[in-house]
Amino acid sequence: MLGAPLLPFDQEAPARSIQVSTTFPRVTETFDCVRCGLTVTTFGPDGERRHHCPACLHSRHVLDQAEGGPSECRAAMTPISIAAPRDGGWRVIHRCTRCGQLASAPVHADDNRLILVRMAVRPLAQPPFPLETLGNL
Ligand SMILES: [Zn+2]
Ligand SMILES: [Zn+2]
Repeated sequence: MLGAPLLPFDQEAPARSIQVSTTFPRVTETFDCVRCGLTVTTFGPDGERRHHCPACLHSRHVLDQAEGGPSECRAAMTPISIAAPRDGGWRVIHRCTRCGQLASAPVHADDNRLILVRMAVRPLAQPPFPLETLGNL
């Protein structure tokens, strides 16, 4: 302890525990990935709630994107693409393997970078027209 003052700690502890229990689910909460089975902490290293597994980027269809409430579907959602909105950051686009509904979720710092970059460059790797023609525009 090295004579560290105990008072600030004692003052902070109750307020912090109240905030965690009322505003947010427990920080230690986890879920099992629907695809690879990895046990994932519900909150990422940036403190944001995760919507997908950081290893395989799959998620589960639990939110109804059209209605806005919970979804009965609960099937696996596959990452199909990357979106780069103007306000910054990348988002993963998911498609449900059962009902086909689309969803998007922010990328987290520890998400699998290989899968992210692979999805981001796929359109350029397989262009629908010869890229050389761009030089003529
Ligand atoms: Zn996974
Ligand atoms: Zn679905």
